[in-house]
Amino acid sequence: MIKFSSFAIVAALGLSACNEEDPIPPVEKTREERVNEHMESLRSDSTALGTFLFSMPKGGDLHSHTSGAITTEKLIAWGAEDGACVNTTTYVASNPCAVGAVPLSTTESDRALYDAVMSAWSMEDHPGPLLTAHQHFFDAFGKYGAVQLDSRNDDSYADILSRAGKHHQVYVELMQGFGAGRGGSLATPLFTSTDTWDKATLLAKRQQLIALPDFQNALTAQATSIANTLKGARTLLGCDTAQKDPGCDVDVRLLVSANRTADRTNVFGQWVYAYELAQKVPEIVGVNLVSPEENANSLAFYQDEMFALGTLDDFNDQEVGRKLVHVSLHAGELIPSVLGAQDQQHMNFHIREAVEKAHAERIGHGADVLSETAGDGAEDLLRDMSAAGVMVEICLTSNRVLLGMSGDAHPLAAYLKNNVPVALATDDSGILRGDITQEYVAAATAQGLDYKTLKKMARASLEHAFAEGDSLWVRRDDFTTAATACASDKPEEATLSASCEGFLAANKRASLQWKLEAQLAVFERSIAP
Ligand SMILES: [Zn+2]
Repeated sequence: MIKFSSFAIVAALGLSACNEEDPIPPVEKTREERVNEHMESLRSDSTALGTFLFSMPKGGDLHSHTSGAITTEKLIAWGAEDGACVNTTTYVASNPCAVGAVPLSTTESDRALYDAVMSAWSMEDHPGPLLTAHQHFFDAFGKYGAVQLDSRNDDSYADILSRAGKHHQVYVELMQGFGAGRGGSLATPLFTSTDTWDKATLLAKRQQLIALPDFQNALTAQATSIANTLKGARTLLGCDTAQKDPGCDVDVRLLVSANRTADRTNVFGQWVYAYELAQKVPEIVGVNLVSPEENANSLAFYQDEMFALGTLDDFNDQEVGRKLVHVSLHAGELIPSVLGAQDQQHMNFHIREAVEKAHAERIGHGADVLSETAGDGAEDLLRDMSAAGVMVEICLTSNRVLLGMSGDAHPLAAYLKNNVPVALATDDSGILRGDITQEYVAAATAQGLDYKTLKKMARASLEHAFAEGDSLWVRRDDFTTAATACASDKPEEATLSASCEGFLAANKRASLQWKLEAQLAVFERSIAP
């Protein structure tokens, strides 16, 4: 809508300019247009462009895995502090120390060991062939697994939130298992070989699972652990002190991720756990599905799992008194070379099934969308996603490093052309040695996007955040008209009307959006006074 109206203005100006006898005075450019021009002038200077995009308010990061987002320097330091060791051949950490492993604290005096651990636990200096890089990435999680123990959750959150705040973001959603594996392992024995995979069976198994005392105990312990983590992170960031870290101003919400490399009964159990944990933990707002999409189990059970999630989601929506739980799914993070010859058809339907069967409101990656042939094909899928407002979490660095997909080979332009909402996200900024600014730089350079488009993506990140409450905007993804309660208010002004104040207090999502608008107003004024 915005796009067409600005085209209309340009067209009108173009016609007027042809009339030499009656010149019309030039229309004053909006501040946004002047900022857009300013960014264009920086394209030849990568340092200046980077500084500009670092300072630009960037809304929220909707696709970030806690385990992959922690900076590798921090992981090494924590492991050393906690007395963990590392095997100097495989670089697998252990705590208690495995036989033959050396203390990680050795890295403090042994630079070569430090560098070797750094490169084993991250993508630092890993220009190798694509499939080797792909494998190296997924192996890294297992190598430092012994360091990122539950006792370091508060440090992890503090690290991630601090970085988001410094890079001018106001919101982060973190994906994590939160002990869902326990739900999975308790669920599998409830199924027999003669059970069918239908709605009645799945809901009966759900009932049996949640009746297990072990299941309920796991939820209770996890809810306490999350509360402690969130509190501990704020303490580490000094949020109640005069020197509070920028991370204190970043709101965090959580998504419980099922691990898709298990079999379907286990994944089902993980999701049942996720929905129940969400009822107990205010910050849990949704579910996801993680680990390699090309894993044999991920492929074998893909359709069954989409059906199972749709079933659980319907149940949750229809049951009176249950908290709304949103769905975002990794889907279409595939390239032909990671699939065997017999599995190539998986490029054809994952995104459509995630949206249609599992009710995904957001898709993570969506990199193979143009290969989709299910239903009426890719064009139709893009139209459907646009109409339904299904947003794609675009992870440019991750897709370049792990899928070898960048520039024109990336479908971001197709999503934009078809008005599918998109937002930039970091995926695993720790392992990938990146940050959200780097994603904006990649969007500006490798994808050639201008300031207006980047700003729209920053706004979309909050429009499609799973934070509670209504949007600030009257029409979805149309960032021109604010809700009536705030219609007479201006984000750059310090005081709010009583109606707007009430509306923002009641709607977390709108309050984050208001915060972004205020930041954008200050930022744009600083560039174009
Ligand atoms: Zn991811």
